[in-house]
Amino acid sequence: METKNWIKDFNNPLMIAGPCSAESELQMMTIAEQMPKDVEIFRAGIWKPRTKPNSFEGVGAIGLNWLKRVGDEFGIKTTTEVATANHVKLALEYDIDILWIGARTTVNPFQVQEIAEALRDTDKIVLVKNPVNPDLELWIGALERLNQQGIKNLGVIHRGFSTYKKDKYRNQPQWQIALDFRNRFPDIPIIGDPSHIAGTRDLIEEVSQKAFNFGFDGLMVETHHNPDEAWSDAKQQITPHRLQEIMEHLQVRSVNDENQDYHQALEVYRNQLDDKDRQVLEMLSERMRIAEEIGELKKKHNITVFQPKRWGEIRDYMHELAHKYGLTPEFIEEYLAAVHQESIKVQNSVMNENIDS
Ligand code: PEP
Ligand code: MN
Repeated sequence: METKNWIKDFNNPLMIAGPCSAESELQMMTIAEQMPKDVEIFRAGIWKPRTKPNSFEGVGAIGLNWLKRVGDEFGIKTTTEVATANHVKLALEYDIDILWIGARTTVNPFQVQEIAEALRDTDKIVLVKNPVNPDLELWIGALERLNQQGIKNLGVIHRGFSTYKKDKYRNQPQWQIALDFRNRFPDIPIIGDPSHIAGTRDLIEEVSQKAFNFGFDGLMVETHHNPDEAWSDAKQQITPHRLQEIMEHLQVRSVNDENQDYHQALEVYRNQLDDKDRQVLEMLSERMRIAEEIGELKKKHNITVFQPKRWGEIRDYMHELAHKYGLTPEFIEEYLAAVHQESIKVQNSVMNENIDS
């Protein structure tokens, strides 16, 4: 891909901030006025892709006037999400500086192609969010579609990936995918979106620092003067004042930082460990649920909780497996003892249910 190095015209790191959605002219002007001075690009969603109908779906084209006014009066560059050829036409008409493609659009090649054609040969910067599913090729495919239409000022935004079970993050970050992207396209800037990864305010700083540990070039942070009252994504928005504080705390790691490779490798390993720990806990909880069922069954048939023969079989089997997987017999003994004790506790409490009450 032949791309241009547009990011050198901005500060390092590049800060993009503004509300999830434009709500009113006053809201936009108020936020812009309070914005930390190092924020160089003001974001606001005008058309909002919402999960369910009957949610607030954005103010529409009128918001472009407000965004333009913010740009003119505060001398800040502007950006909004485009999802159709018509959005592109309007955003270009209002001379919005930078356009981004949202996660729900990047997944759809027809949609991306339509947008790319509507943008043909533009000098505008176009930022492409990762698709909602962790598919690096699909993400790159979207960039290629834009590039084939002569769009050279390209960047990407890592906003995390959807999962069915929600745990710590709203959208699970996959730093490894961002690093793989960087290896393939070292000249295309990568921006972190801690807001959509975190989903809650108190994780914004932590996720932002991680993005810098991985050598990201900037951040896009949802910022609102009254976050609790925001019409969309209220939980994850922070005030411009809080953004200023976070920016003061963050350590930006330059690409030449000797420790950079170490930090990145460490983070990737830690993320893998976190993921495995979560899976182990999920499995253990599932195991205890099954122990509970067994407790019910034993109670019904009046059988004792502890069955020495069965326990002997489990131990033999587990030692065999442990050997195969390279785990020490001592570790497996301790693990089994803990699991066995807990299972017995669970079964006992099932059997004693009516006695206790
Ligand atoms: C947004 O930036 O407000 C947005 C809708 O993001 P995403 O496409 O990442 O869900
Ligand atoms: Mn949002």
